[in-house]
Amino acid sequence: MMQTSAPLARPAPAIDCAGVSRRFDRAVALQSIDVELPAGAFSVLLGPSGCGKSTLLRLIAGLDAPTTGQIRIGGRDMAGLPPVARDLSMVFQSYALFPHLTVAQNILFGLSVRRVARAEQAARLDRVARMMGLETLLARKPAELSGGQQQRVALARAVISERPICLMDEPLSNLDARLRAEMRVELRAIQQRLGLTVVYVTHDQVEAMTMADRIVVMNAGRIEQTGTPREIYATPASAFVARFIGTPPMSLIALADLAGAGVDLPPGLSPDTLVGLRPEDLAPAARGLPVQRLAEEYLGADRLVTLRAGASTLLLRLAAGAPNLPDRFHLTWPPGALHLFDAATGRRLDAVSPARPGAGTLVPTP
Ligand code: ATP
Repeated sequence: MMQTSAPLARPAPAIDCAGVSRRFDRAVALQSIDVELPAGAFSVLLGPSGCGKSTLLRLIAGLDAPTTGQIRIGGRDMAGLPPVARDLSMVFQSYALFPHLTVAQNILFGLSVRRVARAEQAARLDRVARMMGLETLLARKPAELSGGQQQRVALARAVISERPICLMDEPLSNLDARLRAEMRVELRAIQQRLGLTVVYVTHDQVEAMTMADRIVVMNAGRIEQTGTPREIYATPASAFVARFIGTPPMSLIALADLAGAGVDLPPGLSPDTLVGLRPEDLAPAARGLPVQRLAEEYLGADRLVTLRAGASTLLLRLAAGAPNLPDRFHLTWPPGALHLFDAATGRRLDAVSPARPGAGTLVPTP
């Protein structure tokens, strides 16, 4: 549906936040945020409701000012600069289309305000409409469009501005699951083709995993971890990230409930340590961690089995065609599948564990 289009004339800049805080009367929305969002990358701010991601986006946009700290775009301090001076476009959850204007007029609104020449407007509209698959809808009013089409118009309005940075706050959350999956792919393709620096806010970890070059996981006004989707999945920096990333998420069980399984663990672990295991890393075996089967869900391609080990609960993911499980059996996992977290601070322990043979390649011993 989309046609190719030339990348931006100007390279997109990086966005740099240093010591950025935002305090409100009754809430501290952001606490000393340090993060660099690379030039031309799709960065996702991910976290639960109220963690501060929209606040950070509004500070980058210039819709709000930090209490402390500095935001630089392309190396320039943005303090005191209004949104229009920041050379960026925005797409929000509510598409904010003008109901009395046609699709074409909505898309061209910003260019008309900026008094871009008519011929230039027509050429850009033609290009963007083809890219977004909107050619046949240009004369309609927003009320005559589906949610997905309205979303595309809102996106076209941002893309036509040819601004090198695009800030998006949950732009897909009003769409149904199928459309959302389609639009993820389209959005990502447009960002890559144009070389935009995108900052995208979502609480949906699947959206973040599928679209991002870089994910910034936020919790209670702080950054928990920054990394590629692969890094965040493979080595979550905290128990919070471990629970937040992955469908179904990692199971976290008490160290005591691993006792008796014969697992080779680093010496000197606190009894409060949490042990993380991903449901897809586990397999039934003749020996290993003794578990009791509590429940089973059929998911189509997979089955998700809820298990009990001591006082802890954990999940096992199996292929739908795998043999039926008895009520009690043992679990095993490959070397390196264990994740260790300090229960008090939530931080990952691998980094501070003494380097020794076997550490990081933990296996249940026979
Ligand atoms: P959501 O996904 O629900 O939009 P969020 O991660 O985007 O959440 P923010 O909207 O950034 O979270 O809010 C972070 C915190 O700051 C919350 O505790 C919120 O109540 C508070 N907050 C945000 N905006 C304001 C404001 N204008 N005045 C006072 N408090 C605010």
